[in-house]
This record gives sequence, C-alpha cells and structure tokens, in this order.
Amino acid sequence: MNKNELISWIDGNAEEFIQMAKQIWDKPEIAYTETFASSLQKKVLEEAGFAVTSGIGGIPTAFIAEYGIGHPIIGFLGEFDALPGLSQQVCPEQQPVVENGPGHGCGHNLLGTAGVAAVIALKNRMADENMAGTIRYYGCPAEEVLSGKTFMARSGAFDDLDCALTWHPGSANQTTNVSFRALSSVEFYFTGRTAHAGSAPHLGRSALDAVELMNVGANYLREHVPDGSRIHYTITNGGQAPNIVPGDASVWYYLRGENREQVDNMLERLIKIAQGAAMMTETSVTWEIKAGCYDTLPNEVLNDLMFAQGNVIGPLSFTAEEEQFAHELAATLQPKELAGSQRMIALLGGDKDESLQAEYFNNKKEYGETFGASTDVGDVTWITPVGQILTACMPVGVEVHTWQATASFGSSIGMKGMLFAAKVMALSGYDLLHDQGGILAKAKAEFTKKTDGVTYKAGIPSGVQAPVNRALSLANSAT
Ligand SMILES: [Zn+2]
Repeated sequence: MNKNELISWIDGNAEEFIQMAKQIWDKPEIAYTETFASSLQKKVLEEAGFAVTSGIGGIPTAFIAEYGIGHPIIGFLGEFDALPGLSQQVCPEQQPVVENGPGHGCGHNLLGTAGVAAVIALKNRMADENMAGTIRYYGCPAEEVLSGKTFMARSGAFDDLDCALTWHPGSANQTTNVSFRALSSVEFYFTGRTAHAGSAPHLGRSALDAVELMNVGANYLREHVPDGSRIHYTITNGGQAPNIVPGDASVWYYLRGENREQVDNMLERLIKIAQGAAMMTETSVTWEIKAGCYDTLPNEVLNDLMFAQGNVIGPLSFTAEEEQFAHELAATLQPKELAGSQRMIALLGGDKDESLQAEYFNNKKEYGETFGASTDVGDVTWITPVGQILTACMPVGVEVHTWQATASFGSSIGMKGMLFAAKVMALSGYDLLHDQGGILAKAKAEFTKKTDGVTYKAGIPSGVQAPVNRALSLANSAT
C-alpha cells in the first residue's frame, strides 16, 4: 500500500530530518532573523527537486518550495523562529546554553522540519505514481511575533491554495479544534519636552505622564469590551532618570478578541485614548501596528482526515530513558500546572498519569471554544481551509514558552512527535491529491459556511513593512 511506502520513506530518512531539527535547535534565531534555518531548509528542498521562491511578502527568510503542476494545490505551513531568553540544554534542570540567549521553547525547530519531511516524502510518491497536483512548503518566519504569515498573506501567497495542513508541538497527539484569538500588536510613542525635573518642571511636558494616563484610560476601557477580550501592555520606554522630565516614552499593547472585527473596534478606541492622553499632557503621539492576526477557524473535515491517518501510522512508543527524562522534567513543575494538563488528557480519554502520551485523540470537545493565545496561522484559515494537529513532543504538564519545553524540543521525545506529524501530513496530503471521497469539496463547503461572506483583509496596514532590518540589528547588537 502506498501510504505504507510514505511511512517507511520517512522512517528510512528520519536521521536527516532529526539532524535538521537539531541544527535549528542548536542555532536559535528570533523572529525575522532566521537566516540559518531558512537557508538550510531551502537548500534541502532545492536538492530534492523543489522550485524555491524567496522573499515572500518582502521578508528575506520567507519562502515557498513548490513541486508539481496544477490543482489541487496543497500547502504545508512550516515555522522556524525561536524565542528570546529561553536558551536551555537538553537536561532536566534549568541550565541555559547561553545566559539569556534565545531558545526553541515553542518547538518551531520541529514544526518546519516536519513539513519539509512531509513534502519530500510526498514528492517522491507523486513522481512514482505520476500524480497530478501541486504541493507547496511555506517557510514562514516570525510566528512568535504573530506577523510573518500576515505579511505573506497580504502579498497573496496563500490565495490559490485548495487547502493547507499544519501542526504544532504539544504534549499529546490530537486534532486542534479550539479557536485561537485574533490579535493586534501596537506600540505608541509619545513625544514631549525634557526639562530639569527639580528646577524647571513647569517647562517640561512629560511623555511618561502621557503613557501613564493612556494606561489608566485603557484600564477603564476593559469594562466596556466584549467578554473574553484581553488588553495587555508593557512600558517599553519610561525615560532615563527621575531628574529629567521624560521627552520620549512608549508603551506596547496587545489586544485580543474573539474575531478580527472585535479587535479592530478595540484598536480604534485605544487610539482615541492615546490621543486623549497626548492632549492632556501637551505631548504628541504616533503609533505602529506590528501585528494584526486573525482568530483561527478550525476545519473539521481536514482535522478528521488528519486524525484518520493515525490508524495507518499507529501510536508512538517511548524508551525507558525518555520516560525517565519526562518524569524528571515533570518534577520541576508546580502541582497546579500538572493538574491542569492532566485534566485535559483525562477529558480526551487518555491516561492522565502517563507523562508521555502515545495515543492519538480526535479532540471534538474543543469546537466552539476560544483559547487565550493567538497565532498567525489564523490568517491562513480565513483564506483557505486549514487542518491542524498537535503531537506529543513534551511531557504532560510542560507548557510551551518555558525552559522545560526548550529541553523537550531538543530531545528525542520532540523528534518522535515531529516524525509523527510529518507522517500525518504526508498521508493526508496523499489523500487530498487523490481527493479521496471528495474531501476537498467538503472542506471548502465548511470553510465557506464558517467564513460567512467575510473576505480576508490583512490586519496590518498596506504601508507597513516587516521589521526585518530592525530585528537583524537588534539580534546583532545582542550577540
Ligand atoms: Zn510560541
């Protein structure tokens, strides 16, 4: 059976992809600076016979690797950026490789690599079977700042897809049916006038006062936004010293809501609050929209298809050494962290006391529920139907964006979850290319119903470009 050939190809070439994931883990690059990861994946895909186009959406590290001709066109979304401050060795105590350095605490070293493995496996089968259609791997940078895919989407990169598949490292193999929140990331910059704070305060106009008054206004706004909205901020510049009236100050906000429209409404109101604060303090204000991603629309047809591949692949298996490592990592967690995750596993029907989850669950319980976090995959889900799963790349209880997660994603546990994801995507892609059972039409019908006449329009204004140069110069000055 051809699906078994896909599985044995991935197993037979596993070492190459494990090495790729390890190399990217060893050289973590934060958003928009992923030159090593992007070049490595492009090189491997080019050598495998894919046509590579770089610079998608004006981002040098964004690329598309394509093989085949005509429809259906199936996209595979990959990511490869790391997080600042999460450097960690593969060990069960907190031990950074580089103090305060970046690390792969979200497992994007695995995320992109599984997509690369899936498309190369699939390409070989397409060639052998003379299959029609096109497969595309999307090298998507800067997911951690929630904007890489938005710039790519704004340039039309996903417009002609029939559907897309993706995944994310997690602590169990499961379909992802929860909806992530829409988000806007915006920084406000106030400009006033400096003065000696002791001898001539009446001559100063404090930009920091404006930031503080803006935050007061935003905190009053909280009462009058839809339930489930989130407003969070950090002061990115509060002046240099108490004896100088701050001439410059800035504050960075995230707004989250159930959908794009809600967040756009909140943003409009937040801008008025900023302008009000500027007026009160006789300062001026400008702002920069850094990200504007959509909520995710889960596609049940595609998720069911991805789940069905579990019957062919079978469950994961872990060694005694991996179990031991998982127990040691889990022992570093707070009981509450562990209990929350164990409850989720029990809800799915799994054994909550198993630190490493071998089974694969179709998580139907999450339909209609909204999760607190956001992802730029959301943008793609409003352009084309997207199937998405999580796989077991870390012990139950470990959360992404922690040192424990970085340790897991560099270990053989992470690699096993990655290969499982690669197999699920390759097999699902195979069914989609053959359009078994008219899946594409069903997935599209669900998409049309859920988008309900809304046409995707990027949440980042047309004049704003990806902050590539700024990111590169910050990364260089940090090293
Ligand atoms: Zn993340």
